[in-house]
Amino acid sequence: MSLFASVEMTPGDPILGLTEAFVADSRPGKVNLGVGIYYDETGRIPMLRAVRQVEEALARESWPRGYLPIDGLPAYTQATQKLVFGPDSPLLAAGRVATSQTVGGSGALRVGADLLKKALPKAKVAISRPSWENHRVVFTAAGFEVVEYGYYDPATHGLDFHGMLADLGTLEPGTVVLLHACCHNPTGVDLTVEQWKQVVALVKERNLLPFIDMAYQGFDKGTDEDAAAVRLFAESGIDSFVVANSYSKSFSLYGERVGALSIVGATREETLRVQSLVKRTIRSIYSSPSTHGGALVAGVLNSAELRTLWEHELADMRERIHAMRAGMVEKLAAHGAPQFDFIQRQAGMFSYSGLSKEQVDRLREEHAIYAIGTGRICVAALNRNNLDTVVAAVAAVIR
Ligand code: PMP
Repeated sequence: MSLFASVEMTPGDPILGLTEAFVADSRPGKVNLGVGIYYDETGRIPMLRAVRQVEEALARESWPRGYLPIDGLPAYTQATQKLVFGPDSPLLAAGRVATSQTVGGSGALRVGADLLKKALPKAKVAISRPSWENHRVVFTAAGFEVVEYGYYDPATHGLDFHGMLADLGTLEPGTVVLLHACCHNPTGVDLTVEQWKQVVALVKERNLLPFIDMAYQGFDKGTDEDAAAVRLFAESGIDSFVVANSYSKSFSLYGERVGALSIVGATREETLRVQSLVKRTIRSIYSSPSTHGGALVAGVLNSAELRTLWEHELADMRERIHAMRAGMVEKLAAHGAPQFDFIQRQAGMFSYSGLSKEQVDRLREEHAIYAIGTGRICVAALNRNNLDTVVAAVAAVIR
């Protein structure tokens, strides 16, 4: 008998399953709003010009591919710290931040989770309701009990701020609180700076450990504005927190797996100790990160000229998303559905559209438009060619 005979079929990722169904669909004019990828106006994943310039230079050099250090390319981690914490951050000057290059933002979350399980073995992890489904998967796999705090209010399609504060207020000291810095996945609902200040004060008062996931820096307002939560925690005087950031979207380098984990410690000495544990953790999973993606991001961030070009290209991406949000709201209103105005208040690539599972099923079956059963749509997959089709289909299924 096979030693694997007792292994049962594990359910696949519903989002990837949706993409398979989309690819197999032969209807012309089909649209996939189920993905978590930014597409440009022509429906393609962009290759940023800033990235291309670095890539061409690297190809001309045909550089050797030795192993990177366990925590990655120093040019990458140093540039990342400045981007995430701000170039003049007192925490950086004090040596209180240790950053490791990781295998995407997902790798940062998993390394961070494994690290925290060693440092705080009894802690629970609190994630927003709802959250990116992989948050639960990653922290559960690392051995944590995952609980939820209130976040989304379906009645307003906005934030349930009172519920959020009430729930955070009941967490035991030492609980890890997973917070989305900006462009919340899946809802598109973010906190204002004023609301962040209240969350920071509460987290500090209750001695919770903030774990900030920043996968969309620059996709809403700008690289500094979108990092407001990180900067507020940094200024708060809180002893320790963790940040996972990803360049998958902001550099359009999804498959290069470029992310980073930053640990903030109470002192330089404590930070060094925690970083030694981060390195041990990475060593036990994948030894060291990959060279190519890290070199691309470091090449852009460390060149004044390419950094400016990248900031422009990033601004173009977010402005296109804002234009698609505005276009969708305007066109739905013209179809007699003004109730979707909240789509313009939501931020980032995603919107919780409020469409029901049945309406999403009808979109797919009757109109070849694919969305997630929860009603999450990827606004960054809309463009001027498919917007009218999508809006007409949404108007048809809500009737
Ligand atoms: N966090 C959130 C909230 C995300 O949406 C994503 C990507 N979908 C990630 C982390 C992981 O990013 P990466 O693709 O770089 O692993």
